[in-house]
Amino acid sequence: MRTAARAAFCCLAVLLAGGAVAASAGAGAGAAASSRAARPPIVRWLIPFGPKRKHEMAAYSERHYGEHTWRLIHPQVIVEHMAEASSAAAVRNTFVPDVPDVELHELPNVCAHFVVGASGRIFQLVNLRTRCRHTVGLNWTAIGIEHVGYADADALENPAEMRASLRLTQWLRCRFGIKIRNVIGHNESLSSPYHREDVPSLRTQTHGDWRHSSMRIYRKRLRALGRC
Ligand SMILES: [Zn+2]
Repeated sequence: MRTAARAAFCCLAVLLAGGAVAASAGAGAGAAASSRAARPPIVRWLIPFGPKRKHEMAAYSERHYGEHTWRLIHPQVIVEHMAEASSAAAVRNTFVPDVPDVELHELPNVCAHFVVGASGRIFQLVNLRTRCRHTVGLNWTAIGIEHVGYADADALENPAEMRASLRLTQWLRCRFGIKIRNVIGHNESLSSPYHREDVPSLRTQTHGDWRHSSMRIYRKRLRALGRC
């Protein structure tokens, strides 16, 4: 979620969380397309997302998309992010407190559904049936995946992280019937056909992480994994 100010949104405050809980993921449900892509190992490490946060997410959706719901139904886009953080715990710690985010000062706090670590471990932070604030204009229909690292190349050039990211994305896109062209980088958000934003001042807002040139490589590698 790279922002102009490095401290924004993600993760520079490296407050290590205690107690990563390893368990199998059961990554949520939703309408499933047929999928032949194998589900990669996923550690379920959910952030608190109780009634208050859900209510705030529904109000956010009302303000930005004109629909009062916190539910993510039939996701049609997957957005790849760079967290600007050195560990999955740091990423998670940024998302845990339900406080206004440092960039747009809105509630609920930002989050993403998954974070991929530098070692290739995948953590699920939010249920797939719940909307997360990770990409202005697309939160109504997009699954968000954070990557540990500071620049696109940190993930692209890390074989373990890249392999895990591609496996996760392939599994998700096959599960939900998401086309490869709708696997995008955060920086590509404004050109997505699914982008919509009711707040005029945010209609051209995006971040610099996962640029088109990086995503061309990413999607080529994803395509190499084969069809669903
Ligand atoms: Zn991002």
